Amino acid sequence: MHCPFCRHGDSRVVDSRTADDGSSIRRRRQCPACQRRFTTIETASLSVVKRSGVTEPFSREKVVSGVRKACQGRPVSADDLALLAQRVEETLRGSGSAEIDAYEIGLAILGPLRELDEVAYLRFASVYQAFDSLDDFDAAITSLRVERAEREASNPSDDPQDL
Ligand SMILES: [Zn+2]
Repeated sequence: MHCPFCRHGDSRVVDSRTADDGSSIRRRRQCPACQRRFTTIETASLSVVKRSGVTEPFSREKVVSGVRKACQGRPVSADDLALLAQRVEETLRGSGSAEIDAYEIGLAILGPLRELDEVAYLRFASVYQAFDSLDDFDAAITSLRVERAEREASNPSDDPQDL
């Protein structure tokens, strides 16, 4: 961070403070050349608008905790979940929007979770998409089977997985 006074190429953080709503960090900096102080404000470039209208910074940790329950008892590792959260973030950032609705996160989770573990996907989708009958499960499972058949047709060496 350049010093705004003398353009020195470096500065030292002397104080950091998080805004009350957690959406930004205010840093007090000092220039080692001219000793003058200035303030920078850092804001999250990806914000989530919750159903309540409250905005919060996107958090990979929240994606992981949101999916972890659906993965209970499944062969899904912490690394798998971290990677999934990273893919979700990349998808959301790829949308080019700085503010996203919370439901879009769920939507962005469905794809990678389906690839990771079909059972975890069904559990997550049943909650997220509010399945309220066996027909909903039936439709989701049918679509998984169709996809798998297509995948196996194009790659016959794929190990079949049981639902
Ligand atoms: Zn300076």
